Amino acid sequence: MEEKRVFKIGDRVDQMCVTCNEERGHIVVSLSKIGKITRVECPMCASRVMYRGGTRRESSKAGVPYDRTRTYHKGQTLMHPIFGEGEVTAIIEPKKMDVLFADRIRRMMHAHS
Ligand SMILES: [Zn+2]
Repeated sequence: MEEKRVFKIGDRVDQMCVTCNEERGHIVVSLSKIGKITRVECPMCASRVMYRGGTRRESSKAGVPYDRTRTYHKGQTLMHPIFGEGEVTAIIEPKKMDVLFADRIRRMMHAHS
């Protein structure tokens, strides 16, 4: 059974804020075409992060370390030593990608196979 709750922009969901390092209610700021939450904003620090679909999950799916010699794909989570956890939002060119970190999107290098 899938959850049928329909969210809309401005709804509150609980999520861990990586910037505040605290779990708190976030505000839904973007939805996918099928009404799934894609991004939420922390009302305290205003950082926008990818919605993770609940806070109960262990962070076993933590991102792989960022390494420009690796190849990444859209949707992949990575861990940057400075910027922290990010999610690949787009592959721009064979060797460039946009990664959404806790505060903003950054263009990063990566390898291409
Ligand atoms: Zn925050």
